[in-house]
Amino acid sequence: MQSADSQTVTERAATGDPIHFGRPWITEDERRAVLEVLDSPILTHGPQCAAFEEEFAAFMGGGVECLTVTSCMAALHLAWLERGIGPGDDVLVAAQTHVATAHAVEWMGARPVFVDCDPHTGNVTAETLERALTPATKAIALVHYLGIPCDMPAIRAFADAHDLWIVEDCALSVGATFDGAHTGTVGDAGTFSFYPVKHLTTGEGGMFVTRHPEVAKKVRKLRAFGIDRSHTERTVPGMYDVPELGLNYRMSELQAALGRAQLARAREALDMRAANFAAIRRALEGIPHVRVIDSTDARAVNSHYCMSVVLEAPLAAHRGELIAKLNRAGVGTSIYYPQPVPRMSYYRDKYGYDASRWPNATELSDASVALPVGPHVTAADAERIGTTVADTIRGLR
Ligand SMILES: *Cc1c(COP(=O)(O)O)cnc(C)c1O
Repeated sequence: MQSADSQTVTERAATGDPIHFGRPWITEDERRAVLEVLDSPILTHGPQCAAFEEEFAAFMGGGVECLTVTSCMAALHLAWLERGIGPGDDVLVAAQTHVATAHAVEWMGARPVFVDCDPHTGNVTAETLERALTPATKAIALVHYLGIPCDMPAIRAFADAHDLWIVEDCALSVGATFDGAHTGTVGDAGTFSFYPVKHLTTGEGGMFVTRHPEVAKKVRKLRAFGIDRSHTERTVPGMYDVPELGLNYRMSELQAALGRAQLARAREALDMRAANFAAIRRALEGIPHVRVIDSTDARAVNSHYCMSVVLEAPLAAHRGELIAKLNRAGVGTSIYYPQPVPRMSYYRDKYGYDASRWPNATELSDASVALPVGPHVTAADAERIGTTVADTIRGLR
């Protein structure tokens, strides 16, 4: 590994190869784990899924139960199906998130009420939630923006005062903690994504987590057609009943084996992300009108999904130029997220929202650039990203 990595760096230095925004990190261990499953008789919901669930729960701590599913979107859908929200119910939803957070609420027929974020962390706060509260509000759907954990103690207190259920979208927050508690353990349900560019990948895949055993019990059935017992619980093979209307959101054994091998390297990958983030951040220090989105509370541990750099006025107008120049210099970029969800045409057309109601979420969408910090970025790459971004921004004026 060591020599392969340094060779990559040398090659890049020589050729100026592009540094991609996201790249899955797959090793020989992962390949072997998947091939072993292919040689086994069980290809779905078997021992690999069960072991992945236990190992993920141990990684998180906090006494949660984990259930493998097909995606984070599936986990979000299951969270609301279990709760039984529907027409007439409002859910406070982060405006600055992936559409999946809002779509899951929308599929239930409930109404998402979008909530603005803090301009420094990109997260909703107890205050922004309070301001958006409606009489019909039943629950909160929040996201830990780019791996920066929300202030969960404050949000939990707000939710308890108003009897609200909390679903935490943890798609970008594997390894993020607030006061030592992993994201997904303080709310009522948490959802993770194992899409290729996230912290861990299973190709497609996700995890539903909850600290309520009765919720886990119900979601376990809902993810598998609503069948009352798994094949290991059946006294007569093939005999079961279906007391619930469920779906098929089960993960395959191939995916779970890949996920387990990825999880075993999660700490190492998180350390690489933190080091890359710090290196790029150092290079950007002292540049006027530039703000790096990060944890602002010492109790919050960021999982560093990527680095979002906000260009403040008068630089904001030059974002397109910055992105074009960085991409030409071989620095891959992205935007998180390209629109606040209420400005996406589905939501804008349905609810007639005016996005000026979410100024901070709007600023992140319109004036930020996301930079790569994942484990595919070597220390030398991080230095190159930092210098290139700093020099390019200085040249914008
Ligand atoms: C990627 C992402 C999702 C979607 O995850 P899938 O596993 O692809 O369904 C949901 N929420 C957030 C915050 C994400 O970043």
